[in-house]
Formats: sequence, C-alpha cells, structure tokens
Amino acid sequence: MSGGPGTMEQALEPTADPAWVLDAEGYDPLREGSLESRFAISNGFLGIRGARATTRGARWIVPPRTYVAGLFDTSSAEEAISGLVPAADWLEVHILLPGGPMVHHPGDVSSHRMTLDLRRGALLSASRLKTTELGMLRLRTLRLVSLSERAVGLQLIQMEIEKGEIEITFEASFEGVNLGLVSEKIEQDLGVWRTHSSGKGLAMATASSLQIDSRDLPPTTLGPLKWSWSWTSRPGQVVCFERSLAVMRSDTQGLDPGSGARERLGVVRHLGWRGVPAEHEAAWASRWRCSAVEVDVAVYHLNSAANPADERVSISARALTGDDYHGHVFWDTEIYLLPFYILTWPEAARALLMYRFHTLDAARAKAAGMGWRGALYAWESADTGAETAPEQVIGPDRQIIPILCGKEEQHISVDVAYAVWQYWQASGDEGFLLDAGAEILLETGRFWSSRAQLEADGRCHIRGVIGPDEYHEHIDDNAFTNVMARWNIRCALDVAALLRERWPECWAPLSGRLGLDDAELGQWLSAADTMATGLDPKTGLFEQFVGFFALEDIDLTHYAGRSVPMDVVLGRERTQRSQVVKQADVVALLGLLPEEFVRETGAKNFDYYEPRCGHGSSLSRAMNGMVAARLGRSEMALRYFQQTAAIDLADTHVAIDGGVHIAALGGIWMTAVLGFAGLSLRSDGVALDPQLPANWRSFRFGLRWRSRRLRIDIVQGGQLVEATLEAGEPMTLVVSGQPHDLRRDHTLRVPCRLPAPPKGYTDAERGQELPSIRERLPK
Ligand code: BGC
Ligand code: BGC
Repeated sequence: MSGGPGTMEQALEPTADPAWVLDAEGYDPLREGSLESRFAISNGFLGIRGARATTRGARWIVPPRTYVAGLFDTSSAEEAISGLVPAADWLEVHILLPGGPMVHHPGDVSSHRMTLDLRRGALLSASRLKTTELGMLRLRTLRLVSLSERAVGLQLIQMEIEKGEIEITFEASFEGVNLGLVSEKIEQDLGVWRTHSSGKGLAMATASSLQIDSRDLPPTTLGPLKWSWSWTSRPGQVVCFERSLAVMRSDTQGLDPGSGARERLGVVRHLGWRGVPAEHEAAWASRWRCSAVEVDVAVYHLNSAANPADERVSISARALTGDDYHGHVFWDTEIYLLPFYILTWPEAARALLMYRFHTLDAARAKAAGMGWRGALYAWESADTGAETAPEQVIGPDRQIIPILCGKEEQHISVDVAYAVWQYWQASGDEGFLLDAGAEILLETGRFWSSRAQLEADGRCHIRGVIGPDEYHEHIDDNAFTNVMARWNIRCALDVAALLRERWPECWAPLSGRLGLDDAELGQWLSAADTMATGLDPKTGLFEQFVGFFALEDIDLTHYAGRSVPMDVVLGRERTQRSQVVKQADVVALLGLLPEEFVRETGAKNFDYYEPRCGHGSSLSRAMNGMVAARLGRSEMALRYFQQTAAIDLADTHVAIDGGVHIAALGGIWMTAVLGFAGLSLRSDGVALDPQLPANWRSFRFGLRWRSRRLRIDIVQGGQLVEATLEAGEPMTLVVSGQPHDLRRDHTLRVPCRLPAPPKGYTDAERGQELPSIRERLPK
C-alpha cells in the first residue's frame, strides 16, 4: 500500500509535479463537453465523464454519465442494435441557500480549475464562487474509480465558508434513476435495475456522510438514494462530504447483484476515504512502472480503459468516456490498442483477446449465415459478439446513408488473428495459445480460405469488401484485406503444424472438434499461395483494390486547411470515384506486415498513398506517423504524432464530446514506441531501431516481454540506448541489428547506428528464404 492521503486537505491536493497533471482553467459552458471526455476517469469496469457534480441540471446538453462495462441492451427506439446503457449518475450534489440553489453561473465563478491527476488517477477540482449570503465559497472536489477494486467509486467534496450565518442545505442524490433501465429496487443505500431486454442486472450500493469542522452531522432527511443535511453556517466553517459507491453487474437473469454490491460497499467503508485512495494509488503506481512513456495523458486513458479481470468485455471506440458508437468494439482494439497492452500489460491483453474467444461462436454464426466457413467477427461487437453495426445512419443533410460495414468490412477477422499472434509472440503464453488462441487462428484462417474464391485466372479473389478506407465500398481484392488474409491462412497452417508437433494431445481433440483434416489444410495452402494481392511487380506498388489507379486523382494539397472531411467537401459519390483514401489502408498493411514489402517498395507505396489520404478517421494519422517514423521520415512522423495527440488533447476536434478516441491515444504510443524507438518483436528477443525526431533529446518507456520487465532509455537525441532488465531471466536485445545480452545486474549501453535498409521478400524468395512463422515462435 502506498502512503495515500493523511488528511482530506492532502487528498484534495493534486500532485505538485506539473508533468503529472492535466489542468483546465476557467469555466466555459461551451467547452464542457470536450473537457468531460478528456477528463474522464475509468478503470475498465466503471467509467465516469468529467462532468461537474454540483448544480448540474438534467437540462444540460451532455448529461453526466457513469458507464458500466458490458451493460449492453437493445433499445426499442433504435432498431435492434445493442448499445451500452449509462447507469444512474451517482455524483449529483445540490447546495441550497435561502436565496435558491447555487448554480455554476459563469458570472458567479471567480475561479475554477479542473485537474486530472495522472499519477493518482483522480479528477480534482478547485473553485471559488461568489455568493451574496456566504461571501466567497471555496469548493474542492475529488473523484476516482478504484484501480485496485474496480467496483468501487469515491467522491469527496470540501467546502469552506467565508462569512454569513444562514440556513444551508446540502443534498446528495442520484440522477437519472429511471433512465434507460427498469428499476427493480430503490432503497436508501441501494438501487437495483434490469435492462429491458438483454437480461442484465445492475446494482449500485452507496453511503454518504457529512462532517462540519470534523464532527459528523446526522442527515436531516433520507430518501431512496438521497441524503440531505441542514445547518446554520458560521464564518470559517469547513464542511467535508464523502460518498462511496460499489457497483455490480450480473449477466444472468435471476441473479441478484444487490447483495454483492452491498458486500463490497462494506469493504469500502471499512477502508474509508484514506484507504480507498491509498490502494488505488498503489495500483496506479504499478501500472506506471510498467508503461510509463513521455505521452502520459494517452497512457493514462489506456491504463484506465482495460480490465484484466473481465474476459467478457472489451474496449469500445470511445472506451468508457462517451456515448458515441454505443460502446461498440471495432478493430481499433486489436490493431491500435493491443500493441500497448501486449507490451506493457499482458494480463489486460489476454482478457481482451479472451473476449474475442468468448464471442467466437457468434463469429462462426456470422460466417455461416453468409455462406462461409470459419469465423467472421462482427465489425461492431457488443456483449454477445453478434453484429451490431447499424444498417443505416442519418447523414449531415438528413438523408439516409446505408452502412455496409457490418456485412463487408471483413478485415476485422484477420485483425483479431493478428493481435492473437502478436500476444503469443510477446508473451509466450502457452495456456492461452492452447485454450483459445489456436482456435481463433484456425477458425479465422478457415474463414479466409473459404471466402477467397478460385477463379478462371488461377488466382483466389476476395470480392465485395470494404477495406480500412471506408470511402470505397463493395470493392474487389483490397490489398490490405487479401494480403492480411493470406498471412492469416499461413499463420493458421503454422499453428496447426506446431500443435501437431509440440502438443499432439491438444491437436487431436481440437482438430476433431473443428472437423479439420489434411484435405482441408491442403486447400488452405493453395488458397494462400494463389491469393491475388494487387501487387504490380514492375512498380512494386500495391493497387489498393481492383480499379483504384484508374480513379480520379485529386491533389489534396489544394484542400489543406479544410475543417471538414474530404467526403463532405467532395460529396459521397465523387469521393467514391476518386483516389482519396479515408485512412491508412495500404499504409496500414505496411505498418502491420512490413516484411510483405520488398526492399524499397515500402517507401514507394508510402509515397504513393500518404499524399492521397484525407485522414477522415481519427485512426489514420497514427498509422501514417508510425510508418513514417520507421521509414526515417522523422519530421513528418512528428507532425503526425502531434496531430494525433491534438485529437483528444487540444480544443480542435469537434467530435470529442462523444468520448475520447481511444485508438488515436493507442496510436500515440504506437508511433512513439513502434515508430520512433523502432521496436519490433523477434522470436528470440526484442529489437530496437531508434530514429528520434530532431527535437527529442531523449525518450524513455517501459516494456513487458515473456515474463520480464524492461526499461528503455533512448538518450543523446537517439544516439544511445540504455536498457535495464528490471525483472526476469536474461534475454537478447537487438539494437540497430546487433544482438546484445541483457542481464539483471547491469545497464546495457549501446550506441545506435542508422537502421539497416528495409528487408522484404518476393513471393518467389519467400518459399526458400523466409522462415515459416513456426520457426519464429516463442521457445
Ligand atoms: C464508421 C463505420 C461504422 C459506422 C456505423 C461510421 O462512421 O466509419 O466504421 O460501422 O459509422 O457505426
Ligand atoms: C473508422 C474505423 C473505426 C471506427 C471506430 C471509423 O471512422 O473508419 O476504422 O474502426 O471509426 O473508431
């Protein structure tokens, strides 16, 4: 247990080091929505937007939000799409004075500062409010959701009265008790709700107390989830309010989550407002030890988004910080977030991948429903894994736009497989591979082998898909999809061979259960070997999809400085007829499978596609930045890095009201660690090829790899790598192509050389030279 606060004063004091805090000064109602996303706190189970607790009314534009991971329901209003239902707002407070309730009227606020304390994982605020009756009122607040006991939340409010002897009433209640859920039981200290149709239960147990000048004041009135205290003020009075919360979700009908919530509340009350933050801060300290990097705000949200203890939920496109995308899980998690978790928090990575394992049946059902074998994951996934992408949305000019992503954006299946493979490579977690990972790899490989159809030209084609670039729909042979699919099939074959050889006792029942025989494996092999890829051997360019190069070429430099996406500028139809790309697509392929790009063709493809990209998705710049960094385009990479950080951290992106763009935050980490530090995974160790931007003097980050913990410092402007093995067995660290032994007892210091020119293999070379995935396995 770490120190934790001794007094309430200390608890309400943010960390002094400015590097650990994110501040917002002043009070502007129009900025509130985006601040509430940026200042959201969560722990992978509970998520709370950074809304003000005092004096908020239901009239507010973006209502306060508390989210509970996995609390999905199908609302009747919005067809049959499952979405995350917000829980009641448990932080509501009213301060009533004789002249009426105190509201945060901008004119009455003489100062207001919100502070996200990244080190402590808490949201603090300090404000001074002018009142006629009490003079200047000093109000300080803290809220947190515990990282050590994820069901638990804590709220502290301290109020200092300057002058005046008047009747004050302090009211603490829950808002939105009847919103979106069916109330089953609302008592003084407990609310129990059910979802309308998904059969889930929710319980929130709570306790509150108020002290004046360190003495408990008994509540004047009590009601269901409501307390109020009335007293006569005196100058200099210090009022301290404390509220704790315990939340339980149950996924099975008939199970009462209420008793569990009350039980946990008992534990919280025992720990008290000193003990809860102390344990929570100790848990944060250990997260920071493993993942600290000089992009702390991004990492703060990443550490907040996952829950290693719950395999039934994953991270949605806005994590637990906003309503956009209804809590749905996209490829964002596997491609943009998993690299961070795999390399800094493998327990969280495993739980996120287990979520995909638990939804494998739904993926098999989706594939079967469309006439294919194997597993096709939902483009948008909620609790069951069934497809939850809407079939249409209302466009900016009120017209109905059909959404084909749920049917056609199939690369999601290989994205999941890719992350499974990366996790296995980095963790060497055999239990996971044998219990879950192998089955995902086999079933996704099987999907692609049936999805790719052999045609008269002797090649296998994948027609009628959407790639990462969603501006172009129903296209044939998307290079990203096809090359990734080929990788997936080969990986599945390697895994089959590996299991057969190393774990025959596992292979026999698994292959039996899946009905896999040699004839089918043979068909997979020929599907992979004949897959169309769109690669022009003469130019080395991949055509993004069949017919792409013939589309209208639009010079995007003419549209620099625009404030809306290119498809809005050009209109949907013209965009579809153009080479304007929504987001990294061939560039994403280069980012994920660099070995598929022969020699200098990586740079060549990047130079073709990067200028044609409109970055209509928040994911795009991070991928372009990571690839630019690896290609040694450090200044361009830095620009992308800064623009990615600006999405959620500067006041420019309109859409942040709906929650943080968690994939972009993961992308910041990717650009820094996989890009600037040039980290890649090898079968026998970890490799670094640092190329820092000119103005970065140093860059430090933590890593976990196969039960080891490492700290990497890139210093002297990228000239020197210092590596420390903090825990675990000796290992190999490859720096600029040279292997070095890394041991517990000394810090390795290695000068960096410019990275070796990119390697790559032609299809012909692949057969002879490229070691099969199997040979690159963790031993
Ligand atoms: C996204 C798609 C998504 C659709 C419906 C679009 O904005 O680009 O990926 O499926 O919304 O949620
Ligand atoms: C992007 C998708 C992404 C989704 C959720 C869309 O705009 O095009 O790639 O998965 O947003 O973040």
